[in-house]
Amino acid sequence: MRQRTRTKRSLRTKLSSAILIIVLLTIAIISFLSNYFLNRQFTSYIARQQDIKAQVITSSISQQYSMETGQWNMNYIYAIGMNSLYEGYIIRVYDSNHNVLWDALSHDMELCYQIMDDISHRMELEYPQLHGEFQATDYPLSQNGQTIGGVSISQFGPFFMNENDFIFLRSMNTILISVGLISLAVSVIVGHLLAKRISKPILKTVEMTKQIEEGRYEVRLQEDTDTLELDRLMGSINHLAASLQRLEKLRKQLTEDVAHELRTPITVLQSYIEAMAEGLWEVTPERLESCYEEALRIGKLVGDLEKLSKIESESLKLNKSNFSLHHVLDKTVRSMEKELQEKQLEVEITGPRVMLYADEERMKQVAVNLINNAIKYSKDGSRITIQTFEEQVKVGFSVIDKGIGISGEELPFIFERFYRADKSRNRASGGSGIGLTIVKAIVEAHGGVVMVQSEPMEGSIFTVTLPRG
Ligand code: ADP
Repeated sequence: MRQRTRTKRSLRTKLSSAILIIVLLTIAIISFLSNYFLNRQFTSYIARQQDIKAQVITSSISQQYSMETGQWNMNYIYAIGMNSLYEGYIIRVYDSNHNVLWDALSHDMELCYQIMDDISHRMELEYPQLHGEFQATDYPLSQNGQTIGGVSISQFGPFFMNENDFIFLRSMNTILISVGLISLAVSVIVGHLLAKRISKPILKTVEMTKQIEEGRYEVRLQEDTDTLELDRLMGSINHLAASLQRLEKLRKQLTEDVAHELRTPITVLQSYIEAMAEGLWEVTPERLESCYEEALRIGKLVGDLEKLSKIESESLKLNKSNFSLHHVLDKTVRSMEKELQEKQLEVEITGPRVMLYADEERMKQVAVNLINNAIKYSKDGSRITIQTFEEQVKVGFSVIDKGIGISGEELPFIFERFYRADKSRNRASGGSGIGLTIVKAIVEAHGGVVMVQSEPMEGSIFTVTLPRG
């Protein structure tokens, strides 16, 4: 299969180019629109101005006629004519009998053609698609409603611009281009800074993540950027680092604990067997029995560890079914008949006969561990009560003993791996400190909780609560 290789660009480059493209597009659209509308507005303004100019010329010339004398003020007509000529209007004035009073062309033909050439040339250059030409329009001259003559005004149509108009347009365009260039420069700088600001914490995060990757789990990111998503990302990474740190600590702790737990029985075994092998000690059944007990202890410890690791790694694979809790508890108690008799303990199972939807084998393990502890730590001849209960959404049972109890300082730790309250006492009782860890793992895998209440020398109550299946 052909694989497409994607070019990777840094976030900063991507952000900067995205901002730049947006700004360029905006500037292009604004320039195009403003240019288009400015031109359209300006040309229509110019055309309007030309009409007004023609009217002004007509009325100024009309005023140069005196009704009383029937004479024209030729000096003024000449002045108006020349003035108009310089502005691009070639006029011819005639009286009511069509006698020409003043004609720009005959006055100074050369100047007229030069001005006409100038205008045509300029307009052709700036507006080649206009195809304009000089057109003459006749306007009547009147005074008090009486026609006194006429004026023919020849101008470049449909519109034309004089030098000043072009200067105005050019300066407008220069302003537009300058605004565009300044916005472009500003956007490049702002885009660059913005991209840097956004990518900086990401780069920092990547750097920190690398440190975590290298095993420095204590590293934490400062979640104080002004971007919500970045803060969330950092939060998740911090959480991940904390979990890894916890796991790493647990792993180290576990190795230490296992080594520690194995050291004592192995040392005992080693020294006993060594002494017997070297003939320092006589091989007696009692000594062999001691060795056997130590070997058993190691076997139990390894077995417990195996169980625990299985539960922890397969916590999601529960083989759930419906079964009677009462039945499981009853069977467990009966399997411990020997130990109960040895300590002359009485066991009573009370409470409703509840049905559980859970992993029966695992729940049996919970019952075994809790009842076993109750037997181990009970005073001889006392009573153990196992009480089932059933609430709306919860079911469970409590194992109540009248034993030695657990002190308040030790209570928070008893569910931890290898934790044994009063170590010397427990070595004698054969405990490895894993039983309650297994109980907790199984109960939590079922979505339940295990709680303990205890009073030293009074007894303990271990309560397992499970959600109703
Ligand atoms: P162990 O195999 O040592 O009993 P557990 O994990 O079952 O390990 O128990 C941890 C510690 O909690 C025990 O060493 C003991 O000190 C204490 N403990 C547990 N159950 C009881 C109980 N019913 N009465 C008094 N102490 C208890």
